[in-house]
Amino acid sequence: MGETFKISRRPGIWETVQECELCEGRGETMVEHAVVDYMNGGYLTDRLDTCPDCDGEGHVPVDEDAEE
Ligand SMILES: [Zn+2]
Repeated sequence: MGETFKISRRPGIWETVQECELCEGRGETMVEHAVVDYMNGGYLTDRLDTCPDCDGEGHVPVDEDAEE
C-alpha cells in the first residue's frame, strides 16, 4: 500500500486516494503502442502517454473498507 491522502473534487466531499504506483503520481507513464509497418509487419514501441491506471490523475481511489 502506498501513502494515502485525501482530496476534494466537490465541495464537502472528501475521497481517500493513494498515489498511483504505475506512474508514481505523475499521471503519465510509458505505454506500449503497436506501430503498423507494412514493410516489416509492425512493432511495439513505448511512448509517454496518459497513465491507464489513474486516467492521468496521478492517484487512484482507495477502498477504505479493504484497508484493515
Ligand atoms: Zn497513474
